[in-house]
Amino acid sequence: MNIAILSIGNEVLSGKTLNTNGAFIAKEVENLGGKLTHQQVVSDEIGEIIRGLEVSYTYADLVITIGGLGPTVDDLTREGVAKYFGIELVYDEGIYQGICDYFQRRRKEVPKNNFRQAYKFDGGLVLPNHNGTAPALFFEQGNQSIFLLPGPPSELEPIFYENVRPYLINRIKERKITFSYRLCGISESIAEEQILHLYEKYPHLNIAPYCAVDKVDYIVTTQECYEAELKAFDEDFRCIMKDYYIGDQTTNLSTEIVRLLKEKQLTLATAESCSGGLLASTLINVEGISTVFLEGIICYSYESKLKHLNIDVQRLMKFGAVSEEIAHDMATNLKEISGADVTVSVTGIAGPSGGSKLKPVGLVYMAINVCGQIFLKSYIFNGNREKIRQRTVAEALYWLYQYIKAL
Ligand code: ATP
Ligand code: MG
Repeated sequence: MNIAILSIGNEVLSGKTLNTNGAFIAKEVENLGGKLTHQQVVSDEIGEIIRGLEVSYTYADLVITIGGLGPTVDDLTREGVAKYFGIELVYDEGIYQGICDYFQRRRKEVPKNNFRQAYKFDGGLVLPNHNGTAPALFFEQGNQSIFLLPGPPSELEPIFYENVRPYLINRIKERKITFSYRLCGISESIAEEQILHLYEKYPHLNIAPYCAVDKVDYIVTTQECYEAELKAFDEDFRCIMKDYYIGDQTTNLSTEIVRLLKEKQLTLATAESCSGGLLASTLINVEGISTVFLEGIICYSYESKLKHLNIDVQRLMKFGAVSEEIAHDMATNLKEISGADVTVSVTGIAGPSGGSKLKPVGLVYMAINVCGQIFLKSYIFNGNREKIRQRTVAEALYWLYQYIKAL
């Protein structure tokens, strides 16, 4: 069975609303091993909806539409689908009662135009919407079938899980299995280089890398009959990537750091110059960090480094704020000031100005003090100010994770 997604709505077409529903359904279909063959977005015009359906059915036997089921005049999906199939929309008292109940629960009168939503396809099914007024609809004719889902994600997702997913599970014959891997501390190109031979060694696997500033994810899928091949790949891949693999694609490096700190009963503090608190903020996104995170100091100016971190003025003058020596002193002094077991400091030039030949934009020094042992790092990152700060944080998190894990 081939599946197509047809998103309907001017706001999606114009980019004002991001098509997160399309991405959600595509991901779910992929996870189930289904074959998504087409996605498109059309405007809220009945002619465009019909044209969109014509195109969709050249690619697929099942079309899932998104949006245009509301009560307003621009919501024309029902009408478009009825016209495409040459069928009637019929009034359904059950749907209308459902709409009335929805408003009564909120102690509101039923607006007149919601009456428009009380229609289903002659011979079709109504799929209840527990989170909104417009029910979803299903219709089947010959080898063409269709789901009509409402646009708001809070309504679409529950209906998808309750009705569409079970339908797909029944229809998708060939099951797929997926393994995912999250790598940190390695670039996409270096990761690719190291596993290039696995593409040939495991010909029945679909190996796909997805790269972000702070991670590279690998999603590997195959048909159920190649499970043994996937397991062999898994062993190879983890062995090659042992220094970078942190878990599956749902793993979060900050969460892992907090878990390790708790497990080993250690505390942490940060001193940040160029990253301006981004490191502390990223860590503090993890709930329950308060028992292990003591403090984060943003010491951006010279004065702040002197005042809050007791940096020696002579050394600061001699080496400059962006130097290995000052990164070292920041982490060491912070340990004394905060009493934390692990401290990390970063200082660098995020740009776009402030760079020199000797100290270019993107130069970052980092020091990590782990229970008295100090580790120093230096980088020259490329990218704009935002990317340099993000890369700094990504590296700091990666090394914190590695050093704490090794304790
Ligand atoms: P409503 O009853 O709210 O009018 P509807 O089924 O008619 O629902 P639309 O009018 O097309 O749906 O969209 C309603 C809202 O749902 C939009 O304003 C938008 O916030 C969200 N939405 C619509 N389509 C998408 C999409 N493809 N991805 C993410 N959000 C969407
Ligand atoms: Mg609408």
